[in-house]
This record gives sequence, structure tokens and C-alpha cells, in this order.
Amino acid sequence: MTRIYIGMGSNLAAPEEQLRNAIEALAQLPASQLHAVSALYQSDSLLPGQPRYTNAVAALDSELEPLALLDALQAIENQQGRERNERWGPRTLDLDILLFGDRLIDEARLKVPHYHMQERPFVLYPLAELAPADLQLADGRTLQALLAACPFVGLERLA
Ligand code: ATP
Ligand code: CA
Ligand code: CA
Repeated sequence: MTRIYIGMGSNLAAPEEQLRNAIEALAQLPASQLHAVSALYQSDSLLPGQPRYTNAVAALDSELEPLALLDALQAIENQQGRERNERWGPRTLDLDILLFGDRLIDEARLKVPHYHMQERPFVLYPLAELAPADLQLADGRTLQALLAACPFVGLERLA
């Protein structure tokens, strides 16, 4: 089993419910076990004119290979009505693979660690709820260093 961290986000069609449904779908994945889910966080969209986002991070233990997991996550996104129009457009559900054990992945369809996680408080702070305090990424960076460089700004942790 590999410990995988998945970033979840939604800003359309009842985001909290979208995330709850996504968590249920993650718990049903084959050869996998859902280990934990962070609190939900809200923040303004990085792009103007979009509804606020709700985000969370899940820790999944899985025997799936990375691309098989990506296929499964995209199937869950599609099931929940994800439409791919403009880049970074509003979405019912976004599931990103943040970390996949200690693997560095550089494929056309999949880059891990996720290439934008270091500048996203809505990824790093929920991740920090679940990850060991001394977590080191496959590329050598520590989660502590990423957090120190990414202040908790514009983020609201929901009870
Ligand atoms: P961002 O990647 O900046 O968070 P996004 O999540 O809105 O943007 P998408 O449209 O959901 O981007 O995904 C575009 C493509 O990114 C996907 O089709 C997938 O092949 C690719 N991708 C690369 N690395 C990853 C990853 N670690 N997790 C999920 N998708 C990835
Ligand atoms: Ca994303
Ligand atoms: Ca995505």
C-alpha cells in the first residue's frame, strides 16, 4: 500500500456536498483504503469572478498504480458533472494527486508532487493536518519549509 494525498476542490453546485460525495467515492475505490480526510477550508478564487472555493485533502492508501488512480479520480470528477471548458474555470469537483508515497512522477498526464502545491495555502494547510510533521516530499523539500513560505492568508477553516 502507498500513502497518497489527494487535493479536492469545488466551487459549483453545492461545494460541500460535492466534497462529501467525492469522499464517499474515494472510500469505494478498488484496492484502496481511505485513511483520513482534513477539515474543509474556504477561500476566494484565485481568478476574479468565480464563486468561493471549498477545499480539503484526503489521505488514501492504495495499491493502484499512479495512472490508474488518475483515471479513477477523473472518472469521479466526470460522474460529478465536471466540465472542462476554460483552464482553471469553475468546477463541480477537482481531484489532484498531490503526493504519491515517495514517488517522483514526470509523465505527460501526471506530475507528482503536484506542481502548484507550494503556492496554495488551501492545499498545504489541510495537507498538514494529515501528514506527519516531518513529511519530506520525493524531491527533498519538506512540508514545514513549504508551509513557512506560504502564509495562512485568505483561508477560512470550517468547523
Ligand atoms: P491545476 O493543475 O493548476 O490545479 P486544474 O486542476 O484545474 O489545474 P485540470 O484541468 O483538472 O487542471 O487538469 C488538467 C490535467 O492535469 C489533467 O488532465 C491531468 O492529466 C494533469 N495532471 C498533471 N499532474 C496531475 C496531478 N498531480 N494530479 C491531477 N492531474 C494532473
Ligand atoms: Ca487543481
Ligand atoms: Ca485537476
